[in-house]
Amino acid sequence: MAKKQFKAESKRLLDLMINSIYTHKEIFLRELISNASDAIDKLYYKGLTEKISGLSKNDFYIKLTVDKAMRTLTVSDNGMGMTREELEDNLGTIARSGSLSFSENEAGYAAEGEDAKAATKAAAKIDIIGQFGVGFYSAFMVSSEIRVTSRAFGADTAYEWRSEGADGYSVRESARPENGTDITLTIKEDDGENKYGEFLDEYRIRNLIKRYSDYIRYPIKMDMEKTRAIPVSGEAAQGVDAETGPEAGPDANADAAAPKYETYIEEETLNSMVPLWKRAKSKITTEEYADFYKDKFSDFEDPLKVIHTGVEGLVSYDALLFLPARTPFGYYSKDYEKGLQLYSSGVLIMEKCPDLLPDYFGFVKGLVDSQDLSLNISREMLQHDRQLKAIEQRLEKKIRSELEKMLKDDRENYEKFFAAFGATLKYGVYESYGAKKDILKDLLLYYSSSEKKQATLAEYVSRMEEGQKHIYYAAGDDIGRIDRLPQVEALKDKGYEILYGTDPVDEFALKMMNEYDGKEFKNISEDDLDIEESDEDKKKAERREKKYHDLLDAIAGALEGKVSSVRLSKRLKSHPVVLVSRGGISLEMEKVLRQMPEGGDVRAERVLEINAGHKVLKALQKIYENDPKAVKEYAGLLYDQALLIEGLPIEDPVHFADSVCKLIEKTAG
Ligand code: ADP
Repeated sequence: MAKKQFKAESKRLLDLMINSIYTHKEIFLRELISNASDAIDKLYYKGLTEKISGLSKNDFYIKLTVDKAMRTLTVSDNGMGMTREELEDNLGTIARSGSLSFSENEAGYAAEGEDAKAATKAAAKIDIIGQFGVGFYSAFMVSSEIRVTSRAFGADTAYEWRSEGADGYSVRESARPENGTDITLTIKEDDGENKYGEFLDEYRIRNLIKRYSDYIRYPIKMDMEKTRAIPVSGEAAQGVDAETGPEAGPDANADAAAPKYETYIEEETLNSMVPLWKRAKSKITTEEYADFYKDKFSDFEDPLKVIHTGVEGLVSYDALLFLPARTPFGYYSKDYEKGLQLYSSGVLIMEKCPDLLPDYFGFVKGLVDSQDLSLNISREMLQHDRQLKAIEQRLEKKIRSELEKMLKDDRENYEKFFAAFGATLKYGVYESYGAKKDILKDLLLYYSSSEKKQATLAEYVSRMEEGQKHIYYAAGDDIGRIDRLPQVEALKDKGYEILYGTDPVDEFALKMMNEYDGKEFKNISEDDLDIEESDEDKKKAERREKKYHDLLDAIAGALEGKVSSVRLSKRLKSHPVVLVSRGGISLEMEKVLRQMPEGGDVRAERVLEINAGHKVLKALQKIYENDPKAVKEYAGLLYDQALLIEGLPIEDPVHFADSVCKLIEKTAG
């Protein structure tokens, strides 16, 4: 029979899989069991919602069968099964190719080559296996061949899918007495490094089930070989018991006196079947939570935090929530879908229910199980469901208080959390037009110019200088760059702390918040910094303003259309010039907005400030007095400089370069 080829990405993933390091291999069983359980869930749910008779919860099971002689392990379920098309679609490709390209970037895996060494290296570097629920394919880590026999619910025919790995697969008609799926693995031969044979050992398998799949809600059954003493019978056994036997009858048959053993087979249910979230918190280990999270939510790292909570009342529910330790792949893209799994009395009714989480907590993974929700509820109905709303509100409160607690008691982990998801919280403030600010404001962190680490707004306010009216902030691409901005210097000199925002959303969110604890936020590049001045300073400024009035006018004239005014600066210390903005849109916002599809021609109103104490001003004054027209060229240069410092493009870089050259030539005489 002609072999069909796997899709390209699947092939590469298979390579990674097969060459993965050995300790990862055991998870294949968890993956197959999860799939079997999902397939039963689907059928059970279908039975409930479509009122199909004869589908009782108690009839569902997963069965493991070992055949040591054939070296096979079979995972069977009586769930939904797959049609021929489904076998090909589901097992012939790997759906989440996006995840794969991510792992490749991380691992630096050469995309084209099927070079086993590269694959091994890549797999060692990142735990791709545990990473993305690569699921079914993980079975190739331990199998030389996989056979999947499946009969879809309601179908008469079964089909068999068979593959030996990367060289493709075949599908043919087969037989199966009822709906469901058998996945038969031919376990690889042991080699120097790997003792694959352990996956044929019932006790090893039982341990794996206990470790990874205990919470599965359907029985996982296996025939276990057991030993028992043979019940003694007949006359020889009369009056013989374990303790007195030998002494009581020295002449009696010695063989009959010594206990004899026999092996027998007994079917055992290996898992406890209680969902993790229904178990007592005190009895669940960190490792169990972590394994559960990684299995269900396709992460390869332990969660940063687990929130396990239950509520009894008008609406009762159990919730098991997780904060991932790092930003998931694609999280900040618009394709990311937030949501929690929704169970109704232990039956999964929705994989990702978005209505359980506000957008600004969209990073939370986990599930909610409530007995108060109807199984037949549709997606549309859910949106308007009052009980669901009530759950969402409670979860929101809970998540918030847990985050606050973490911020207070476990700052290091909170900062890790914030690095991964802080932008989501800020976006929440912005998107709600500030309506959610009271929920979110105390969860925000900004880099502090004085502390040189992350600070909360409350910490900032507690450190404010006497006479300081505002919370000063600066926005830019990175901390180093902001720190070098000319406008930072004078404020720092006054002892004022400045918060640095490096997320594009920062300034927009701060503008929406407007104030914290009655203190207005002020961008250090804003027109009016509102810094207290002594009378003496004020007088000095007036004198200078008068002295340079004509020069400033001339510069403003030269820069017409570029800046709305030119003036002496109160915020500069050692730098000659700075561009600041007037009105609602700052230069940084202009930068951010221009990168957006609709923000193309937004422009901040610019004001050029010149440092009154800088020698360049005196030099310009001299030039102006000699030849008022000569100022034009220099005005352009100063403006371009200011643009460069702000990280904005200059309009005519060639002209700028020419001007600088001319200056050099002039200096040389
Ligand atoms: P995932 O389970 O993450 O979607 P897998 O590669 O493990 O990815 O499985 C691919 C698909 O194959 C599943 O989504 C499911 O539709 C189907 N499948 C796997 N195992 C079974 C099974 N035992 N019964 C029915 N369908 C299955």
